[in-house]
Amino acid sequence: MQTTGDGRKDRTNGPIPPPDGAALTLEQLYRQGRAALAALSGAGENSPMEAAFLFRKVFGIGREELLLRGQEPAPEGLSGEYRALIRRRAQGEPLQYLLGEWEFYGLNFFVGPGVLIPRPETELLVDAALASVRDLPSPALLDLCSGSGCIPIALGHALPEAQVWGVELSPDALGYFWRNLAAHGLPRVAAVAGDVFALPAAVTGRRYHAVTANPPYIPRGELPGLQAEVRREPPLALDGGEDGLDFYRRLPGICFPLLEPGGWLLLEIGEGQGEAVSALLAAAGFRSVRVERDLSGLERLVRGQR
Ligand code: GLN
Repeated sequence: MQTTGDGRKDRTNGPIPPPDGAALTLEQLYRQGRAALAALSGAGENSPMEAAFLFRKVFGIGREELLLRGQEPAPEGLSGEYRALIRRRAQGEPLQYLLGEWEFYGLNFFVGPGVLIPRPETELLVDAALASVRDLPSPALLDLCSGSGCIPIALGHALPEAQVWGVELSPDALGYFWRNLAAHGLPRVAAVAGDVFALPAAVTGRRYHAVTANPPYIPRGELPGLQAEVRREPPLALDGGEDGLDFYRRLPGICFPLLEPGGWLLLEIGEGQGEAVSALLAAAGFRSVRVERDLSGLERLVRGQR
């Protein structure tokens, strides 16, 4: 946004006009952003947190420092940047895309349009995979539908002796995966471009102690009804076909021969998919198949052992 220097341009474009003649203080500016987001359906209750995240991105000032420095005048240019982010958020852009990064498993990941935002409930999949290889000195792990790379990178970070491969189809998502890999500096984690239904030779030439995936699992008909923010995420990462189970029909058969005997397949699932996905794993020859719930008590993953 172009500012004229007197803040008038902001007044016509932004949801939060500054009062006549007065430069806002940092505290006032933060509060105005918060108020603009409070009106946002769905994000209203998170508006203090979201406004604080955007404020920190622009000003480099967290909420605690804001308590100390709140009466300082807000610099014009940065105020415009903050207002622009608040406005985009109020129009439904995901907070995480506006920030350009998000936390998963205690680690920072670059995210943005074109890649699925890492979800806290997916940390259960990382925990389960780590537990499944706990007693192995240098396990080999494969992650499918890797997106930003949050799962393989979290695994590689927790297991410095492991070798981890992640496969992703979307060039946009792969861009984030590569960037994240470079940022985390994990030489034993590899990002591989490829289709999980026609896996590249780079990953089929060996066997794994665990295979993980958070595939698309939302029934196609439910996509238009999803929360506005989720509809900004790539459909490729969400669309699980007619009943949401397309990937679960094929991945067990594809993964079984890639696993070491005793190795585990661990798949994130959506609410209510536990029974169907368990049956598909059992039909592909997996034993000890079981469903695990997340902290909200929802079915969140299915695992089975070769
Ligand atoms: N957990 C995501 C959601 O419900 C879906 C991710 C996926 O399809 N794997 O928004």
